[in-house]
Amino acid sequence: MPDRKEGGTPLSGGASADYDLIIIGGGLAGASLAIALAGRGARILIVEHQDEFRDRIRGEVLMPWGSLEAQRLGIYSLLLQSCAIEAGYYSRFRNGLQPVVRDLLATTPAQTCCMTFPHPQMQSILLRHAEILGTEVRRGTVASAVTSGNLPRVHIGSDKDGLSARLVVLADGRDSRLRSLLGFEVRHDPEQLVTAGMILEGDVNCSEFLADHARPHSANTVNLFYDPKGGRMVIAMRIAPGRNRIYLIYHKDVLPKRLSGRHSVDEMVRQLQVTGAPGHWFDRARQAGPLASFDGSHRWVDRPYRDGVVLIGDTAAATDPAWGRGLSRTLRDVRLLRDRLLENSDWRSAAEAYASDHDDFYGRMRRLEAMETALLFERGEAADRRREHAFALFADDPTRVPDVMGLGPEAPSDEKARARYFGEL
Ligand SMILES: Cc1cc2nc3c(=O)[nH]c(=O)nc-3n(C[C@H](O)[C@H](O)[C@H](O)COP(=O)(O)OP(=O)(O)OC[C@H]3O[C@@H](n4cnc5c(N)ncnc54)[C@H](O)[C@@H]3O)c2cc1C
Repeated sequence: MPDRKEGGTPLSGGASADYDLIIIGGGLAGASLAIALAGRGARILIVEHQDEFRDRIRGEVLMPWGSLEAQRLGIYSLLLQSCAIEAGYYSRFRNGLQPVVRDLLATTPAQTCCMTFPHPQMQSILLRHAEILGTEVRRGTVASAVTSGNLPRVHIGSDKDGLSARLVVLADGRDSRLRSLLGFEVRHDPEQLVTAGMILEGDVNCSEFLADHARPHSANTVNLFYDPKGGRMVIAMRIAPGRNRIYLIYHKDVLPKRLSGRHSVDEMVRQLQVTGAPGHWFDRARQAGPLASFDGSHRWVDRPYRDGVVLIGDTAAATDPAWGRGLSRTLRDVRLLRDRLLENSDWRSAAEAYASDHDDFYGRMRRLEAMETALLFERGEAADRRREHAFALFADDPTRVPDVMGLGPEAPSDEKARARYFGEL
């Protein structure tokens, strides 16, 4: 799939500030913004805390609508050539029923598929590429404070004077400290789902086709196993040869204790298998890297721009890892901000416009995920009955399920869409 990088005008705003843009955080959000703006004369600095990226258990599957965003930003081919694998199918298994296998290229609106990769490698490649394209990158360096204002300043370590920029971008992730120091109010939903993740390493391929009747030649699939009564789901895929990411997603009331650390590996493997993951995966592979659990409740900032400082990626809004959309949402932020900065030389107005674009699409995303969490994971007999009713209707009319995988936030999420999804209409 070719990249579709969009053209634009020169960006530099003269020498009144040290930089045009200072980006704090060189993860997916920060690095891809620098790449997307490269070549137009803007002086960009990225400050990245980590000397070397390590596995923090983060996103490793990009959804088809996110693949389209990656193409629009000009990073899709780069990732594919360096560290990523395309997965053209998505296979869903539910408690022994016939699996539903989706051919993504044939059925998504932009004929895109999933992409999988080791997250730390993806970060290194993008950050290095930003540097090659002219961004100054300071690694192993912490941005300790930001002063907002007409000419915002970023303070590095104990430096008092700081560096000035026309615009400061906070891309420092879901636990951003600077966001709170600057007075952005972080809102959050109540905790409902927990996501635990680990790596399976060895002679096993978690992107293998398990649905025999639909087996295509040499194609990868993302495998999902769902146990509605048990309030659990598994998502598994290969991220590199001999290396697989496997997530267990469960309602917070299902397990008495969070799965975390080496002593939880046996219980994690037991839960994965009870939910449907095939036993042979665990015979030929071993757990590697960290095992940890994450609260999936949404955390977000309304209007993620104020006084010279704009928020993108997880700093602006972290969605529930259970639904695997954080990478796609992050790339959407980057594209929206890039487009606004390219169309308006007044970057304050441009960032204001981005903030309302962000609120609009993120609001729809949050509504969609709330619907899915309620229907698929609520506990109790009434919830079980409601699910069975809805599943029976889906079998007759699959369009009742909003196509979030293909359409992302553009999937219908209004009252009518909700009622059709829940089988009330
Ligand atoms: C368990 C889990 C599983 C997930 N699975 C998926 C998935 O399968 N698919 C999907 O689409 N999404 C998934 N996500 C979400 C996805 O990982 C995030 O949305 C995405 O990584 C956000 O990127 P980011 O660049 O905004 O933040 P980050 O990747 O967190 O990057 C922030 C960067 O800022 C740096 N930094 C922080 N503070 C400072 C500072 N003061 N100074 C300098 N640098 C700083 C950090 O070192 C880091 O490199 C998952 C998330 C979790 C928690």
